Amino acid sequence: MIYYKTSDEVELIRKSSLLVGKTLAAVAAAIKPGMTTLELDTLAETVIRDHGAVPSFKGYNGFPGTLCVSVNEQVVHGIPGNRVIQDGDVVSVDCGAFMNGFHGDSAYSFLVGNVPAAAVRLAKVTKESLYLGIGKAVAGNRIGDISHAIQSYCETQLGYGVVRELVGHGIGRELHEAPEVPNFGTRGRGVQMQEGLVIAIEPMINLGGRQVVQEKDGWTIRTRDNKVSMHYEHTVAVGKEKADILSSFEEIEEAVSKNEYLITTEEVTEQ
Ligand code: MG
Ligand code: MG
Repeated sequence: MIYYKTSDEVELIRKSSLLVGKTLAAVAAAIKPGMTTLELDTLAETVIRDHGAVPSFKGYNGFPGTLCVSVNEQVVHGIPGNRVIQDGDVVSVDCGAFMNGFHGDSAYSFLVGNVPAAAVRLAKVTKESLYLGIGKAVAGNRIGDISHAIQSYCETQLGYGVVRELVGHGIGRELHEAPEVPNFGTRGRGVQMQEGLVIAIEPMINLGGRQVVQEKDGWTIRTRDNKVSMHYEHTVAVGKEKADILSSFEEIEEAVSKNEYLITTEEVTEQ
């Protein structure tokens, strides 16, 4: 069943979501070639706990990390560990924080150094598709309107692979609530949205085919063709006139622009 939130509850989800943004900004400030994904995870856990919150993912169905760190062909659910980040890597970092009884959830793909131009374009398009989806998160619209906006932009117009097996979701007292928010679908179909619905919208877009497989660790999802994938996510409250984005990329993108080892989605290095 769908739990609609009061405006007070929406504000609590905003607090948790903004803490996720702050945590991802700390990751953005620290990330550089030579670091392990576990070092990023330790940093993120410290930020979350220092703010009196708890990492949403740690222990969720047995997941061991605070972050999901997925590199290059890895799409989502990468386990932090001793993998060393290299120049040219795409590092997708997903994070959740639980505070005052509510979760926040957000993700960002970081471009480390000499990332191929095609991957930088994919990152830009994936982020644009997230905002196209958010634009449909308005009372009276249906979930399929969000799904269609993302799919039609990434897949139909640009030929990228839109992952089917993993989807966005309602969020609140539970990390994953109803309804599912797929990144593919048909306009005018699905649950009709009302004010008070809070959802995580999270396009996962592949440079190649849409097919994914699970790695032997039982968690990590990667592309079947081993081509790069991107993941951006916001927690969003459905509004009467427009969606209210509860998480924020502002601090993250400020940190990205100051980190000499990262490039932004606006910078394409021709190789
Ligand atoms: Mg997430
Ligand atoms: Mg999510």
